Amino acid sequence: MVTRWMSALWAATLLVGCAGADGGTQGSGTGAPSPVASVGAPAPGDSAALSAAERDGLAFTREEEKLARDVYAALRAHDRSFDNIAQSEQTHMDAVGTLLTRYSLPDPVAGKGPGVFADPALQALHDTLVQRGTPSLVDALTVGVEIEELDIHDIDEAGKGVSHPDIVETYANLTRGSRNHLRTFYSKLRAAGGTYTPKHIDEATFRAIVESPAERGR
Ligand code: MN
Ligand code: MN
Repeated sequence: MVTRWMSALWAATLLVGCAGADGGTQGSGTGAPSPVASVGAPAPGDSAALSAAERDGLAFTREEEKLARDVYAALRAHDRSFDNIAQSEQTHMDAVGTLLTRYSLPDPVAGKGPGVFADPALQALHDTLVQRGTPSLVDALTVGVEIEELDIHDIDEAGKGVSHPDIVETYANLTRGSRNHLRTFYSKLRAAGGTYTPKHIDEATFRAIVESPAERGR
């Protein structure tokens, strides 16, 4: 099974050739996600209510949303969209932070300033993406598209182990935001003369997103 950990490691390895990270492992949960958000939520503070995969997924997602926020902030001089979407990533970070607090889980980004990460694979990926995106608008928008398709892939993976409705709903909100961000960055990339081949999600899924209208929410 390709996990989001491997995905981040793969990306970092591909891009810089030295991820140097302990990717860890992740079990796969068996609970079926429910579309109903407010039913069956456990008492606040009950970290034991979550599976190891759910806990790991929240911690990883919290940091991966920070990666998006920090890379876009670093590339903000290229286009106004980077500032706008960085603000959206802050709301995504906050949403996952709310869940970490609710379930009394440690926050991997606590005390970490912009561009600093606990996960070595995410640190390497951040550094590489900022470097790659800095030279030109096309480079920056290409990095934006890659981050968004990676997020869509990784949140989908994280969601596979989830049975708690509040986590299901949060992941759905995050991935909807990512689809909108992907549409924005890809549209601007095409307008700037760039092209893109998806690396983390399949071509049909990528096409279906970029060729459909924006959804409500960010
Ligand atoms: Mn996001
Ligand atoms: Mn995003």
